[in-house]
Amino acid sequence: MEKESEKEEAEIPEEGVVVREEKAWTPKTQLGRDVLAGKIKSIDEILESGKRILEPEIVDYLLPGLKEELILIGGRTGKGGGAQRIPIRITARVTKSGRRFRMSAFIVVGNEDGYVGIGKGVSVDARKAVEKARRRAKMNIIKVWRGCGSWECGCGTPHSIPFKTEGKCGSVRVILMPAPKGVGLVADDESKKILRLAGIKDVWVKTFGNTSTHINLITAIYRALKNLYIYQR
Ligand SMILES: [Zn+2]
Repeated sequence: MEKESEKEEAEIPEEGVVVREEKAWTPKTQLGRDVLAGKIKSIDEILESGKRILEPEIVDYLLPGLKEELILIGGRTGKGGGAQRIPIRITARVTKSGRRFRMSAFIVVGNEDGYVGIGKGVSVDARKAVEKARRRAKMNIIKVWRGCGSWECGCGTPHSIPFKTEGKCGSVRVILMPAPKGVGLVADDESKKILRLAGIKDVWVKTFGNTSTHINLITAIYRALKNLYIYQR
């Protein structure tokens, strides 16, 4: 009883005070503490050091205002099943006590300016699956090297990628090729989501294998984008 009244009191805002709905962040890792203390000032410092981000709040703090897209991973995945695709995949598991359903979600986050991440979440609850996927996507953020690698263009602005790159996941293999200004994203709708969020405006995407498995398709593109920096070394 005492606790309850205490809580009530704390929630009464002073007159004229704007109450922000923002949650306070208490970092759980050293990296998080360094970010909150201002010792680390940019996401690049973390990505270049190769340290793993274990709390999504680090990304919220250093890269605020990330946008997101749900990838359509549910519905029929057979040939030509494009029309019935939905964001949440529902899978059933038969147990002694009956059927248990699990929801999966797959999210891409990005700032449309060179940073992108992907993440999958699974839960019995669809909303929780989305939240988990969002947190994972933030922790998987990468920097995408953009440029103008098209000999037909040569404008030198970062509207495309600097050179051809490849990525693989499962049976899916993708090749991304630099395209001249104005070509746009020559890719399917799901692939466009990750390319757009990465801040790429013109690119040609070639795919091989079973691309109806959107998780594999998007993961292959994510790896191809990640490889741009790996190839450089
Ligand atoms: Zn160009």
